Parts: sequence; C-alpha cells; structure tokens
Amino acid sequence: MAWLVVSLSLIAIWVASFCKIFFRATSTSSKTLQKKNVMFVIAHPDDESMFFSPTINYLASNACNLHILCFSTGNADGMGSIRKDELHRACAVLKIPRQQLKILDHPNLQDGFGQLWSHDLLKEIIQEEVTNHDIHTIITFDNYGVSGHCNHQDVHRGVLKFLQTNSGRNIKAWELVSLNIFRKYFGPVDIWLSILSAKQHPSKVIIINEQPWKSFKAMAQHLSQWVWFRKLFVSFSSYTYANTLNRINA
Ligand SMILES: [Zn+2]
Repeated sequence: MAWLVVSLSLIAIWVASFCKIFFRATSTSSKTLQKKNVMFVIAHPDDESMFFSPTINYLASNACNLHILCFSTGNADGMGSIRKDELHRACAVLKIPRQQLKILDHPNLQDGFGQLWSHDLLKEIIQEEVTNHDIHTIITFDNYGVSGHCNHQDVHRGVLKFLQTNSGRNIKAWELVSLNIFRKYFGPVDIWLSILSAKQHPSKVIIINEQPWKSFKAMAQHLSQWVWFRKLFVSFSSYTYANTLNRINA
C-alpha cells in the first residue's frame, strides 16, 4: 500500500511540475535579463543544448539578439569537425543565426580534461567578441561548471578576468548555477526547489523552459553525442527544464 501512495505522489509531483512549465512558465524576475545583445560563452559543442537551453529559448522568444562563443570544437575524440557541424545544426533549432555563432579551434584551447586554458587568452578573445558585437550581457558557467569539467571552469574564470579588466563598460554577466548531484536529475520537479532558492537569494533568477521539446530536438542534432545515456540525461536533467542564473559580481 505504501508503495502505491509513494508512486501516486511522485506521479502527482511530475504532473504538477509539467503544468507549471506549460501554463505559467517564466518567473517575473527574469525580466531583468532582457537586454538586446546577449552572448553565451561556452566550452564545447552541446553545452548550449544540454545546459543553457531554457535561457536560450526564453531570450530567443523575447526578441534578444543571441550570440554563442564556443571555445573549442570538442575534438577530444578526434571528432571536432563533425561536432562543429552539429553545433551549427543545434543553433538552427535554437534560432541563433549562423553568423552569430563563433567556434574556435585554437591550439591552446583544445577540449580535454588535462587541458588548462589560459585565462588571459580567454579574456582577450571575449573582449574582442564583446566589442565586435556590442554585447550587453554575458551568460556562462559558474565556478564549478555544472559537470566539474575543467574547461567549463576555465571559461568561467576567463569571463571573470574580462569583467575585472573591463569594469567601466557596464557589461552584465550571469552564471549558470551548478546543482548538486541529487537535484541535477530531479527533472522538472527541481523547478520548485529552484523557485524557493531564488526567493531566498535576490541575486538569482530562475528561467523555466517553455519549450523543453525544443531542447531535446537541439540536443538530438549532436548526433555523435546522442547515445542512450545522453538521451536519459536530457530527459531527467533539471537543466532541460529550468536554469537558475546568478548575477556575477566581479
Ligand atoms: Zn562542455
């Protein structure tokens, strides 16, 4: 009997979470994010679809001009050129214009766990992109980098360095808050915890994904990565349903 009550409760929570997503999607506080030219700074092709898609979908449907700066082709397994094409296809699904996607293949910024990226080099490149595209807002990883990947963490530090050396330019920056291992796989249910957490911390905003199926479709463009465990990850990952962003105060 107890298992029946637990199962029914779990189903009820999932249904309530999906209702929250489909009928009352975006929190009011995320209005503060609406700035014209927004640049996502990521490390690898698929970071945008796997982690940032709630924010991308929200900003794209609010007339923001979205750019992506991806610091590598994801060549750790020698599939860099394939993964580059896949990122182009994912951006087409996410409605990010082709000319607003920049994928670097720099010898000192190669994908991999043992690869340490120079924060000064990252800062220089970010600075150039911000100037070239008149960027107002940057969105990137936090200091843990969602999965703990060192390339994600270096990207965060590169953005910090850029902000510290460009404090007079009034560029706003937000970091994607990393969730602990339990909350990471709560799927849509985590939106309740995220909303509670954002209420307690005014510097945070929560963005609920109005189109989770679009995130799934974008991730499916990364065919070389689209293996069974990633399909499971995207289905159960809290990052598919919501993003909590924290304002970076450099
Ligand atoms: Zn990555």
